[in-house]
Amino acid sequence: MATSEELHKRRVEAVARGVGSTIPAYVDRAGGGTITDVDGRRWIDFAAGIAVTNVGNSAPRVVEAVRAQVERFTHTCFMVAPYESYVAVCEQLNAVTPGGFEKRSALFNSGAEAVENAVKIARHATGRPAVVVFDHAYHGRTNLTMALTAKNMPYKHRFGPFAGEVYRVPMSYPLRDGGLDGATAAARSIEMIEKQVGAENVAALLIEPIQGEGGFVVPAPGFLPALREWATAAGVVFVADEIQTGFCRTGDWFACAHEGVEPDLVTLAKGIAGGLPLAAVTGRAELMDAVHVGGLGGTYGGNPIACAAALAAMETMRELDLAAAARRIGAVMGERLGAIAARDRRVAEVRGRGAMLAVEIVVPGTLTPDPAATAAISAACHAAGLLTLTCGTYGNVLRFLPPLVISDDELAGGLDILDAAFG
Ligand SMILES: *Cc1c(COP(=O)(O)O)cnc(C)c1O
Repeated sequence: MATSEELHKRRVEAVARGVGSTIPAYVDRAGGGTITDVDGRRWIDFAAGIAVTNVGNSAPRVVEAVRAQVERFTHTCFMVAPYESYVAVCEQLNAVTPGGFEKRSALFNSGAEAVENAVKIARHATGRPAVVVFDHAYHGRTNLTMALTAKNMPYKHRFGPFAGEVYRVPMSYPLRDGGLDGATAAARSIEMIEKQVGAENVAALLIEPIQGEGGFVVPAPGFLPALREWATAAGVVFVADEIQTGFCRTGDWFACAHEGVEPDLVTLAKGIAGGLPLAAVTGRAELMDAVHVGGLGGTYGGNPIACAAALAAMETMRELDLAAAARRIGAVMGERLGAIAARDRRVAEVRGRGAMLAVEIVVPGTLTPDPAATAAISAACHAAGLLTLTCGTYGNVLRFLPPLVISDDELAGGLDILDAAFG
């Protein structure tokens, strides 16, 4: 087998430079809480392929379901000749997402595509043009979702012009907004929408209940409920982007549930199918069904292999109670991160929920972001055998997203490496 170094040489000659990688090691296999490269080097996995392999890599039920489906048929296109697993995934999503009302779902391939379709549906159902998004938001890399995403480098730089009718308002970010309470932070955002856009022009308010790429920003309690209440009164479709937070990651099936918020539409992807590409929009039947027949779809959306994997992944989440696993991981990780924060003044805050935790790194005694220290700590983790990711508008957030099936020993081993990387 080629070595990681040899593969990297080939990659530079074959793969476009614009596609980056966190580590220069090429994967041979992965499972549980570890990734092994072609040279036999092992990393404890605190990334889960960016919150995708919540059920672990090659989860037994997923492997079995994929194998069985691939032998029956690989693709007919649901828009041409439909099949049961697509319907079954929609039934389950309708049942498992927040909100006791009647729902419908539609399936797509990627998170960005789900977000694009949620906007299409909200615009169609309301007859309004505007979409409101938040500072630090991340919603994808297609043209519309680049417009919805906040951060210029690397996501938007020189890729414009972008789609119009997108308006950005402040997020509740307690560390950096002087600790505004949720209701006050929401009132500030709502006033901006009403004065600068006009509620009657707004089709959708789109928000990550806990921001992902933007820095694992957890809004102050009350922020999401206040926005939800305003959206209801204003006839605005409240869209929760649960692409990173969903499928047990935060200790509940969906992060909106922690504050009892029921979105009109929810966008889903990442953790949905144990690593196979699948995405969805799920929401109120009257909004979803407003769109004419043929108005939604795509060649591969709801591919039968991905649907089989999703059914198996959701079964695994129930069977192993991965929401409870995420809460346990969060408790163990939170305690160790708290101890690091207590001794290392570069840590401004430990935040997150369940198995979606992060630390924000600053110049001690200030709130000045320190992306160089953040990168150095992350590099030290990589060198010592722990795969970590960074994020944040200022590149100064170290985030931790282990697979929810990580063993106690792997979790403890990863946290030992992290502890040592802080010095
Ligand atoms: C990853 C992500 C997306 C985009 O999903 P892709 O599958 O990469 O297109 C959108 N929203 C959030 C919150 C994400 O974390």
